[in-house]
Amino acid sequence: MEYSRIKGTNDIIPPESLLWKGVIAAIHEVFSSFGYSFEISPILEPFELFVRSIGEGTDIVNKEMFIFESKSGKKIALKPEETAVLMRSIIENNIVGDSFARKYYYITPIFRYERPQKGRYREFYQYGVEAVNTQSVMRDAEIIEAGRKIIDRFGIKNVSLEINSIGCRECRKPYRDELALYFRSNTEKLCDDCRRKSETNPMRILDCKNEGCIAVSSGAPVISDYLCSGCKKDFEDMQFLLKEKSIEFRINPRIVRGLDYYSKTVFEFVEQGGVLGSQSTLIGGGRYDYLAEEMGGRNMPSVGFAGGLERLLLSIPEDVRKQIIKKEGIDAVCVYFDRETLSFSERIAAELRKDGKKIEICYESDKIKKQMKYASSLGAAYAVICGGDELKRGVVTVKNLETQEQSEISSSASKILEAINRS
Ligand code: AMP
Repeated sequence: MEYSRIKGTNDIIPPESLLWKGVIAAIHEVFSSFGYSFEISPILEPFELFVRSIGEGTDIVNKEMFIFESKSGKKIALKPEETAVLMRSIIENNIVGDSFARKYYYITPIFRYERPQKGRYREFYQYGVEAVNTQSVMRDAEIIEAGRKIIDRFGIKNVSLEINSIGCRECRKPYRDELALYFRSNTEKLCDDCRRKSETNPMRILDCKNEGCIAVSSGAPVISDYLCSGCKKDFEDMQFLLKEKSIEFRINPRIVRGLDYYSKTVFEFVEQGGVLGSQSTLIGGGRYDYLAEEMGGRNMPSVGFAGGLERLLLSIPEDVRKQIIKKEGIDAVCVYFDRETLSFSERIAAELRKDGKKIEICYESDKIKKQMKYASSLGAAYAVICGGDELKRGVVTVKNLETQEQSEISSSASKILEAINRS
């Protein structure tokens, strides 16, 4: 074939797309249940927005952005994350002018020029929340609870929550200095990238997955020894809140998150069962108290997280996947024999659709065998057989396509619904 998809992108087609549909619907439900409002922002954004917010010297800005020049010569990026975009939108639309929190969630395509592998793509989807203009540590705990709900909702086991505090500007400075000293004295054991980071941003070395760097990092000073009393209290409060919500966690001093704008609480949900291989972080998030100001807006302390939708989907156990796909699939195919029974079929289909059922009719053939084959190929749960004899007697035959059991019932919509709602 002449064309194929761009490396690192995916075609999401049935039945996989049905899984996506069900999971996306559940994400909407969970986030909405916590009072977060859905937002949609552009995919095209000014390149400089990300340089300013994510930070020069980060992998995203240095290596991973898809950038192009518009006809007018403006440098445009396909968004590599949502937080900065949302903040841009809030500042530009002058949304916050009081002391109340604004709570948003999103499900959006994200673009990063990374080496593709299982769970890592160049075009992928992130779902996430942002609680903006709030200093309350209750919001930190709230979004963690929402993240946990999403993971639990799909029966994903073996996902640990790892938390840390990276402090505020004040306590981070002496820590960074100590860390820089430590890494500089171990510079020969670090990878080339981390050697550079030891000069520019030593905290990022703690994020490095290189074995040599991990070994050096394990002996590095930890931020908890440097937290100021305010940050210490917030971190303790958050742990108390998580315990109160019965959310298990582990303090992991190695979690610092890759981006410049994080402060205080940082956390990750990590899949521990080996399903995702090396790409095991399902959700990453934290506070970004200074981002709004750094972008030229008012002081709006905020907290949020982003999760990778593909990774979430890859982690869902097989039986749950099947259930979701079944639920999202066609409920029934109405089967007919000739022109007259086609009208009968159409009437039944219209009634069932009124109730939200997903109903298909095979217009391409009036052969019953073909229609039944079509129903199976769609993964339909039932066939509602609307024959001439049935029409005369005011009944239909409902056939369960999984068990092959069938029974004759009244052709009233309520009776058919009762029959096809059974499983
Ligand atoms: P980040 O914005 O880097 O903190 O990423 C948040 C989440 O997005 C990660 O925990 C992953 O689940 C997901 N993610 C990040 N990069 C990719 C990628 N290249 N492909 C698929 N998912 C990704």
